[in-house]
Amino acid sequence: MPRGRVFRTRGLVLRRRDFGEADRLLTVLTEERGKLVLLAKGVRRLTSRKAAHLELYNEVDLLVHQGRTFGIVSQAEAIRCFPSMRADLQRLATAHYFAELMDSLVADGEEAKPAFMLLRNCLGWLDEGAPLELLSHYYELHLLELAGYRPQLYHCPQCQEWLREEPNYLEPAAGGFLCPRCAAEWPQAMVASVGAQKVLRFLQRSAPPQSFGLVLRPALRAELERLMAAYVCHILERVPRASQFLAEVRALTETRLSS
Ligand SMILES: [Zn+2]
Repeated sequence: MPRGRVFRTRGLVLRRRDFGEADRLLTVLTEERGKLVLLAKGVRRLTSRKAAHLELYNEVDLLVHQGRTFGIVSQAEAIRCFPSMRADLQRLATAHYFAELMDSLVADGEEAKPAFMLLRNCLGWLDEGAPLELLSHYYELHLLELAGYRPQLYHCPQCQEWLREEPNYLEPAAGGFLCPRCAAEWPQAMVASVGAQKVLRFLQRSAPPQSFGLVLRPALRAELERLMAAYVCHILERVPRASQFLAEVRALTETRLSS
């Protein structure tokens, strides 16, 4: 991009870190230009007018001046701030998890409009009170698909046979659910109940407002959590930092509710 160029874009703030004395570097997923690292000057000063617009996870309209190393934010106006999400620690921790997954799976500057739409919609549903687990698994499945890691949930990725309605086995390294015969060769494969398979297939193909109406038993919720966490960790090759934080927040909320 030639120096001195100015562009306008809409983005979601994924990450931010302090830079210099009063500046911040922001990782922003933009609608038109993929993921960018932008410099926001002076936003750590109390008098900064831009600071409130550039909070984490805000959807923001930006005017960017292309500098030598980074794009420099010259104007910022928040479009959506998701206030209900921010008022609930578990929802905010979920947004943190969504942003970390996005940051890990989308490369800088790669065109990412569908990913932008997915995150924007999911932050909106998070703000509107959608059920957390279903929304998270919806997000994970669709983001994996956009990043080129769509889990194969209908036929066995090894023998290619259509999966029967019986417990099958999730093996992230094989790319989805293995049939019981093929799973015998994969000692790490995790058994998945018929119910868990149905929910994941439904989330993978459905529009979210419908799929959020599902009511899950606690055992099924725990099973889905275990299966999807294993899949995500395999693709990322690590446990997401935000998922540890989310687990702590959940435990804290449950202790508070039960006391
Ligand atoms: Zn098979």
